[in-house]
Amino acid sequence: MKQSTQAFDPNITYQKRPNNAEHIKLFVSPYQYIQGKGVINEIGEYISLCVSGSVGILITPGRERALGTVLEKSLGSVGLSSIKTIFQGESSLLEVERVIACFQKPGMPINVIIGVGGGKCLDTARMAASKLNIPVVTVPTTASTDAPTAAHSVVYDEDGVFDRVEFSTISPLLVLVDLDIVANAPPRYLIAGMGDAYSTYFEARCCMENPDALTARGARPTMAALAIARQCRDVLLEYGVEALQELKSGCIGSAFSRIVEANILLSGIGFESGGLAGAHAVAQGLTVCRDLHKNCLHGELVAIGVMSQLIMEKRMEDAKDTAIFFRAVGLPLHLEQLGFDPIKRNAELDEIVRRSLEVPFMKYEPFEVTHNLLKSAIIEAGLLGKGKL
Ligand SMILES: [Zn+2]
Repeated sequence: MKQSTQAFDPNITYQKRPNNAEHIKLFVSPYQYIQGKGVINEIGEYISLCVSGSVGILITPGRERALGTVLEKSLGSVGLSSIKTIFQGESSLLEVERVIACFQKPGMPINVIIGVGGGKCLDTARMAASKLNIPVVTVPTTASTDAPTAAHSVVYDEDGVFDRVEFSTISPLLVLVDLDIVANAPPRYLIAGMGDAYSTYFEARCCMENPDALTARGARPTMAALAIARQCRDVLLEYGVEALQELKSGCIGSAFSRIVEANILLSGIGFESGGLAGAHAVAQGLTVCRDLHKNCLHGELVAIGVMSQLIMEKRMEDAKDTAIFFRAVGLPLHLEQLGFDPIKRNAELDEIVRRSLEVPFMKYEPFEVTHNLLKSAIIEAGLLGKGKL
């Protein structure tokens, strides 16, 4: 296996065009998405349609206990041999190197990597596969992030502090979502996933309407991605509450299945080819506070970001609809619900605003976002959340 040493920068490939030609539109998505109850049992068969030989498995410790044997049995049943390593908890470059070393056994080159776990485990699997120039299969164990379908990974240092985003040249070969597995995660993960997914349409709309906005890969958003993002929001509004009821009753049905698809597939494709704007800039800015970074899930911070974005954009009808939905499913509307008092922690709020303004996609809002504009939008979201607007 030959390792690629050059980091791939899609902004060079896609954004820089000769003679200032207009930006291309770019749509990226996984090659296949499979969702259903118990599909983990057939993973070997699905993979064998595209790949033969050996498989490297990166899996979180809890999932190894629950699924390790199932995976090996399924892969073995179609003649795929496997080698496994347990994810150590951080999607750092050190962990990527460790995983690659585990999979580089003499005489047994692997042909695909399967990541089984949460966002960081999947990101690590993707980076290792990318460096080995082989495809990745992602098996998310929660429906809480966009990581499973993406063609890029977030790199953290050994202490869990954000380092950078690393891009892969290709999207996952297969995203396999077993509804029984994601139903096993605490409901908070599904709720946070709804927060992340709900923002997708409002950010893609912002990018579509602003001719200067680009996606993370340096291209213009596509209409396909915007349509997918809109469908994502509509599904959440229609089935979000019912899905939670199904999950809490222990009897998952079609509403749960729709929300899982919205959280993982529609949101994942919608954001990657639709673009990000204010909501994710605020979510990233909020991580400057250690307690928020440590105690909150990504989608919970994005929820705060959506409210702030819509208020900044003066889309009050959207903001009110959002508040109703967030309340119904239990997503936070304002910082106090995350244990952050914006009056007592005014200096930290200023720092959050400063950091948010530094995030590149904040500039895709259709007006200049000033410190005061964003700060008052965050505070106003609190008032709206408390029913004072
Ligand atoms: Zn997100």
